[in-house]
Amino acid sequence: MQKRTVLITGSTSGIGLAIAKAFAQEGYNLIFNGLETDGAQTAAAVAEEYQIAHLFDPANMLHPEALRTLVMRAEQRFGCIDILINNAGIQHVSPIEDFPEEKWDAILGVNLSSAFHLTKAVWPAMKQQRFGRIITIASAHGLVASEFKSAYVAAKHGVVGFTKTIALEGAPYGITANAICPGYVRTALVDKQLADQAATHHLSEDEVAEKVLLAKQAIKQFIPTESIAAMCLFLATEKAATLTGAALSIDGGWSAQ
Ligand code: NAD
Repeated sequence: MQKRTVLITGSTSGIGLAIAKAFAQEGYNLIFNGLETDGAQTAAAVAEEYQIAHLFDPANMLHPEALRTLVMRAEQRFGCIDILINNAGIQHVSPIEDFPEEKWDAILGVNLSSAFHLTKAVWPAMKQQRFGRIITIASAHGLVASEFKSAYVAAKHGVVGFTKTIALEGAPYGITANAICPGYVRTALVDKQLADQAATHHLSEDEVAEKVLLAKQAIKQFIPTESIAAMCLFLATEKAATLTGAALSIDGGWSAQ
């Protein structure tokens, strides 16, 4: 079978990078994206290690035109994006009365609207070939809330709703859409929260991890990035052809409560 092509947003760091490595190991063509200044080198190193074809494009998720150009470049090079993984995401933690308007707009833009713009751009080619996979890294916060995360919780709930709609629209064309809802994963995004909360609460970072972040997870461990990557790999296969419209929790039992 011809090699499939996967576009992963925010794939030069954290969860996205782990997903990229898992797909590289299986020989997929990869389109990397992210704002890290060494993103091009990170992408090239993964491609070199696994001997795969790749593109790196630092398109900003806040700029719809850049996203359309990214898809056009990728399609010119690889024909079709078979699997889109909407992973790029940002966070800001603040009580509602102090929540900066520009942070609200940015979180909705990166975590929710970029999934719409990219899905719309990859859709025609997926529909034509009657195969496609739209996978979005939502969050446990796509299903339940925590205080002080109004924009993030709204965006992640929004992307779960968007996923359900796309699953219905894609069903006649072999396109599936699913959201993965992880609990806390130890990445740059969470390291910042650990540092901020340690300073606010006068606790050590280990205490914040145990008493604040992992308080709601029945399994008191951070979720390994490899678990999320393995779920993405499965969703990309033919075996997952009837798994669609789901919000798949990998949250150590958090949302079971
Ligand atoms: P991370 O900060 O390590 O990676 C985020 C990636 O998104 C980076 O590559 C960054 O450059 C990219 N990005 C951010 N803003 C962008 C923009 N405007 N344009 C293009 N790229 C942009 O964080 P992570 O923890 O790996 O997060 C990945 C996804 O997983 C996010 O959607 C996040 O909400 C979600 N998630 C994370 C956790 C967690 O505990 N870390 C839990 C559940 C869900």
